[in-house]
Amino acid sequence: MTGIKRALVIGGGIAGPVTALALRKAGIETTVYEAHPSAADGLGAMLTVAPNGLDALRIVGADQAVAAVSHPVPGVVMADGAGNVLTEFAGFPELPATRAMARADLFRALAGHAVAEGVRIEYGRRLVAATDTGDEVTAHFADGGTATGDVLIGADGIRSTVRSLIDPGAPGPAYGGVLSFGGPAVGSDVQTRPGMMHFAFGKAFLGYWTTPDGRVIWFGSLPRQEPMSAAEVREVPAADWLARLRELYAGHVPGQALLEHTDPGEMYVVGPMEYMPDVPHWHRGRMVLVGDSAHAPSSTSGQGASITAESAIELARCLRDLPDVTSAFTAYEGLRRPRVAAITGDAAAKNKAKAGRTEIEPGQSAGRPAFPTPEQMFAPVHRHHIDWDQTVVP
Ligand SMILES: Cc1cc2nc3c(=O)[nH]c(=O)nc-3n(C[C@H](O)[C@H](O)[C@H](O)COP(=O)(O)OP(=O)(O)OC[C@H]3O[C@@H](n4cnc5c(N)ncnc54)[C@H](O)[C@@H]3O)c2cc1C
Repeated sequence: MTGIKRALVIGGGIAGPVTALALRKAGIETTVYEAHPSAADGLGAMLTVAPNGLDALRIVGADQAVAAVSHPVPGVVMADGAGNVLTEFAGFPELPATRAMARADLFRALAGHAVAEGVRIEYGRRLVAATDTGDEVTAHFADGGTATGDVLIGADGIRSTVRSLIDPGAPGPAYGGVLSFGGPAVGSDVQTRPGMMHFAFGKAFLGYWTTPDGRVIWFGSLPRQEPMSAAEVREVPAADWLARLRELYAGHVPGQALLEHTDPGEMYVVGPMEYMPDVPHWHRGRMVLVGDSAHAPSSTSGQGASITAESAIELARCLRDLPDVTSAFTAYEGLRRPRVAAITGDAAAKNKAKAGRTEIEPGQSAGRPAFPTPEQMFAPVHRHHIDWDQTVVP
């Protein structure tokens, strides 16, 4: 036992509530401080939580709360840009099915579950500075207030303030070379298979599936060399972006049909696809990072939320089992770095292909050696399991 009794968690997205729940389970009193005035402010788009993420959430009893706001999409169909199926995979039957949901619903579900379990979440508390005396750490908020604890955990996302407090020279988010969009397509004759996420490659990439209310939701990207901020992307009318997407996806099956049946008013203008380059320092003194602040993969991975949940659980196990804060943070980093590096590295390679539009062209075979089967691709990621009851050793 590190002997720590009070943890301050900065950020109430995914990492924040899950870390707080896991710390509570480990007997450590935790308060979450979230900058926004409520859960899930200003979030668009959909995301998926994979079997490994659900497995981690199950440890803190949050899997059911997530199930209540999501629907299962266990399988994957991969096709070229002409509609030819390359390969398909129904998912691993012994694992929980990947679930899709609105990002905002996931945030609300996790925060709601945490509060129901007794976690305190304070909204409208933006961290601006921290003082680490060696014996304790004090968070300073924009409203002039402070809070003191034994550790301060930066669950404050890809633009983390805690990351800069740990290391003023830490890198910021990097641009993945594409702008992300999505939305519902209504009235197209595009067919989907129940429970399957379809990935259509070709000169451009598009993913799509059908939600329980019968809408086909697509997500795709527009290569762009010059980075734009999310605010700059949103200043451009959605209809203009849709026109450019229609141009790019002309002739793409089923991209052309889906985009023709998308209403610009309903489109998700998500913004630049970003990821975190390697963060050299995950902790210093009594401060540590968890989730996107330490390891945000690009959304190509479909793993950001899932590996965030894994890291939250592992951090709590380390703080539960190791004799002091430094050895706990060191063990946590050692447990997590190789895993997240494998996932973020793989996503970066796929992303490069998206930005350069060098994905699979019509007629290319799924069986060629460079193109692993979905089982090979997903097994090491989806089968990851954390044993909460196992004691962490340094
Ligand atoms: C468009 C999009 C699609 C995605 N799709 C997927 C997907 O399909 N599958 C998947 O697994 N992942 C996906 N992701 C990634 C996933 O959303 C993130 O990996 C995940 O949200 C990370 O959780 P987090 O808690 O670390 O950070 P966040 O969810 O970003 O939460 C950070 C929180 O900290 C708060 N905060 C920030 N600064 C401060 C401060 N100074 N003081 C107090 N609070 C602060 C923020 O307001 C926020 O609530 C997607 C991401 C995007 C943007």
